[in-house]
Amino acid sequence: MKNVTCSDLGGPADCQFEIVGSTAEEMGDNCKKHVMEMVQSGDEAHQAAINAMMNLSPEEQQKKFAEYMQICTDSLRE
Ligand SMILES: [Zn+2]
Repeated sequence: MKNVTCSDLGGPADCQFEIVGSTAEEMGDNCKKHVMEMVQSGDEAHQAAINAMMNLSPEEQQKKFAEYMQICTDSLRE
């Protein structure tokens, strides 16, 4: 099984927080939870990652989201 990190799912490039879960959806939720916790504790890098995502068009956001879900699905298969 391949490890998926926060940075794989659009987080800051240097964030190696490991995203775990038994399904892609669960991993997505855990990633969101981690990012929210980081932002709440005042982490600017994670805030910037959210801002970058918010600046994308809805189509681009959907594409990114599908990409991340694919990364999670692949990691569960390997
Ligand atoms: Zn992170």
